[in-house]
Amino acid sequence: MEELVALCKRRGFIFQSSEIYGGLQGTYDFGPLGVELKNNIKNAWWESMVYDNDNIEGLDSSILTNPLVLGYSGHEDTFSDPMVDCKSCGLRFRADQVPKECKPEDLTEPRQFNLMFKTNVGPIDDGSSFAYLRPETAQQIFTNFKNVIDSTSKPVPFGIAQIGKAFRNEITPRNFIFRVREFEQMELEYFVMPGEDEKSHDIWVQKRLEWWKKQGVPTESIELYDVPTEELAHYSKKTIDLMYKFPHGLEELEGIANRTDFDLGSHSKKQNELSIGSSVKENKHSNSKMAVQDDSGKWVVPFVIEPSAGVERGFLAILNEAYFVEDLENDKTRVVLRLKPHLSPIKAAVIPLKKNNTELVEAAKKIKNDLQKIGLGRVIFENTGNIGKSYRKHDEIGTPVCITVDFQTLEDDSVTIRDRDSMEQKRLDIDDLNNYLIKLINR
Ligand code: ATP
Repeated sequence: MEELVALCKRRGFIFQSSEIYGGLQGTYDFGPLGVELKNNIKNAWWESMVYDNDNIEGLDSSILTNPLVLGYSGHEDTFSDPMVDCKSCGLRFRADQVPKECKPEDLTEPRQFNLMFKTNVGPIDDGSSFAYLRPETAQQIFTNFKNVIDSTSKPVPFGIAQIGKAFRNEITPRNFIFRVREFEQMELEYFVMPGEDEKSHDIWVQKRLEWWKKQGVPTESIELYDVPTEELAHYSKKTIDLMYKFPHGLEELEGIANRTDFDLGSHSKKQNELSIGSSVKENKHSNSKMAVQDDSGKWVVPFVIEPSAGVERGFLAILNEAYFVEDLENDKTRVVLRLKPHLSPIKAAVIPLKKNNTELVEAAKKIKNDLQKIGLGRVIFENTGNIGKSYRKHDEIGTPVCITVDFQTLEDDSVTIRDRDSMEQKRLDIDDLNNYLIKLINR
């Protein structure tokens, strides 16, 4: 883990938040390369959900959440972790995450600690008008269920996908960006008719494993954990966690839950007119009937299958899989990030052989500008004057290809292409660069 953390800081992937003032625990900032990698991960997820499936729609809902939403969802009552204090070291821990050094006899009895952040809304701070920062993106998908159906005429089965920030006041944030207090989730709520839920759940587990594989996290690095009944969240009938071998141990990367009809049933008006299977609180506030009519005209509350992945945990897993230290000749080593090219923060670096040669510099700038226009992601012009050093840097940040502009370029419009993984170099005509890059990034 230390090597990854050092690389992230050195190359500008991730910084500690508010670092110049000593930081703020459980928060991180994504630097110039981090924001690109993060966006690429999110785009890959969005494409696989919304663009590849005509029956999945996107949503971007508010972070500030009406307390009623999180009251009826069950979060006010149950979204808590057991917390203990250690009387010896004076620190506070989640009960299942107490370090070995703390002796059991020094620990207090566990008490429940609600993880939701509250904030004041409006100009008067008397505690009467507060909102929650959402602890998951899912709830506002449920509250928008009818809006999406009415505006898109989607029949069940259909899904609503959302990527966005979530906030949890974790008792012990730790392990770099693995457990933080502010993070992003990529969540799909897939609505199916009751009875179709178990099959759909199995299908989504397989689809999600396939997706992680395409991002460079092989199925062999993931273990499926069938969450035992006593550990299931209050809404879940079955949950399969995708457990990844993170540098600090095997932990949850993504959870795929069968949330039954609990959420729509909880947020619905006229609950007694619907046959809701889950046990839900009586809803006295909702103005929306969260149900659809089946072929016979009967109102039915759909079940929900939810694949919910953390962007930061995905980032860490992808980085961990891509990170290699390789031996070279002359007892040298190189660090190389073998990221899938579509995830690479920089798609290509265009480098003039000589820093101060106007013709080379101009030719390189033109190539950069032309490649940038294809819209594959960031291409950079790099004028360090040290080709070897530039190659090393781009190996380390995962740039799949470096394009060197030399004196031959000025004669025959060809460039040297240097491949990150094989380190092989070959000549290519400038006219063929577009296609070369398109193929490389989309492979
Ligand atoms: P854990 O048991 O590790 O606390 P969880 O079961 O509470 O996780 P979920 O509520 O299922 O997590 O959230 C869905 C996903 O959101 C998780 O699989 C994870 O990728 C991400 N996630 C949850 N909490 C955090 C956090 N504090 N920091 C970073 N990512 C998180």
